[in-house]
Amino acid sequence: MTTSAARVDFPHVPSPDPTPAAQRDGLLADPGFGRVFTDHVATATWTAGRGWHDTAVRAAEPLTLHPAAAVLHYAQEVFEGLKAYRQPDGSVALFRPDLNAARFARSARRLALPELPPEAFVAAVSALVRADEAWVPEPPASLYLRPFTVATEAFLGVRPAEEARFLVAASPAGPLFAGREAGVTLWISDELSRAAQGGTGDAKCGGNYAAGLAAQTLARSHDCDQVLFLDAREHRWLEESGTMNVLVVTADGELATPPLGTILDGVTRRSVLELAAGHGLTPVERPISVEELRAGCADGSITEVFATGTAAVISPIVAFRSTAGDFAVGDGTPGPHTRALHAELLDVQFGRVPDPRGWRV
Ligand code: PMP
Repeated sequence: MTTSAARVDFPHVPSPDPTPAAQRDGLLADPGFGRVFTDHVATATWTAGRGWHDTAVRAAEPLTLHPAAAVLHYAQEVFEGLKAYRQPDGSVALFRPDLNAARFARSARRLALPELPPEAFVAAVSALVRADEAWVPEPPASLYLRPFTVATEAFLGVRPAEEARFLVAASPAGPLFAGREAGVTLWISDELSRAAQGGTGDAKCGGNYAAGLAAQTLARSHDCDQVLFLDAREHRWLEESGTMNVLVVTADGELATPPLGTILDGVTRRSVLELAAGHGLTPVERPISVEELRAGCADGSITEVFATGTAAVISPIVAFRSTAGDFAVGDGTPGPHTRALHAELLDVQFGRVPDPRGWRV
């Protein structure tokens, strides 16, 4: 394969040691999130001057990396997250993988990594799902797919690596916030920020998540499920949660969410904005301040708040905590728009309703 190839193959080299069916079915009964992995990975190698090559779907095995591999020192890495959903007729569908493919290429550009052509991204993910189809669980569980590119060149100088490896791992996943459908509480982080203008906030790179862990730990210590990050300059404007975008519903029918720039361009965020009109809501991307959030929750002009992401789809946010005091959203239970949008997205993903927008692939 070269970067200009119109059609990209990931030939299947079956694992010599696949998981026995009975053991696999046992794991699928209660997979949790991110702990169980399938038998194969999709993979490709990139070398400067040669481009992408050695594409395949092969046995999932530990990687061999030189101790000087650039990713281990300078975090030159990008990743994606999307899911494969079992359909009522037994087939399997991805949800808008073209958006993940495009975002993956944008992230790679920002991290000075080689861009995988979007059609190769979709081909790799599809080939892996085909090889490990027996690992796609029944609803409401799904198969989480984790494409990533790491800089593998053994070189300690600081410059873009000249060797990289692309892989896709697959992990059956139950609903992420299982047991927390009643809603989550966010800690408003007015000290630690996630991203700054000109930084990597809109790229999906590992370093962003490492930098967010201390804030997440702080949130936990305040009895919150997750953190809500604010902008780095004024600590005033809402950005996003740890791994989810944040949206608010106003009493006058807005579905408002912070604008892109320093946040991730979430596939679920975008989808919910596109579904808003069908729910009588006007989608708006605009700055939202903590003052507006706090006052709006107090006087009822903000009626619902929720977070979106591939893993948990939609998480109702029912309360906030901060150094300036705690407050609830509405009556502290998930609101009607939150529940309706959640149900509609799940119905599209699991193939229970028609798909006029062509989101299922
Ligand atoms: N923000 C961040 C920081 C994330 O990691 C994610 C998960 N990819 C999201 C938002 C939600 O994006 P998506 O809807 O594409 O999963």
